[in-house]
Amino acid sequence: MGVRAKAFMDSGALVPDEVVVGIVCERLQQADCVLGFILDGFPRTVAQADDLHKTLVQMSYPLQAVVSLEVGEEVLVERLTGRRTCRNCGAGYHLRFSPSRQPDRCDGCGGELFQRDDDREETIRHRLSVYRQQTAPLIGYYGEQGLLFTVDGMEDIALVQEKIVAILSALR
Ligand SMILES: [Zn+2]
Repeated sequence: MGVRAKAFMDSGALVPDEVVVGIVCERLQQADCVLGFILDGFPRTVAQADDLHKTLVQMSYPLQAVVSLEVGEEVLVERLTGRRTCRNCGAGYHLRFSPSRQPDRCDGCGGELFQRDDDREETIRHRLSVYRQQTAPLIGYYGEQGLLFTVDGMEDIALVQEKIVAILSALR
């Protein structure tokens, strides 16, 4: 499946849902998934969710919970546009939440800090619009199935983690 996906990516095409779902399902068949697994940022569309559901039912591995981390769009934009990356060693910084000691210089190696294309505001605004169109419908989709848990992602990281762990622990 990975080889098939690479052929699509090399040609600049989007990887079809069936191939994406195939990659995930191949991974879920490995021994370390026997006690459970967490999918992060997948599925991203209702079509992927439908494919995933069919495959997981066949594998007797139905999803038990879906956690939606809710963060206001302007906060997301601030979090993402503030990220800076060291050109030399790849270390990550944030202008507001984790600034380097000298502006635009890496604390570790002195390399130049830059903003990745992924973190530019126009890229993020575009991704948010794709999210609204393609991914946000999953909230209703999983809500109807009684699988959805929402967590306020605006709170402190430690509290967010605690809430996610509490949701997942209650499933056992
Ligand atoms: Zn560096």
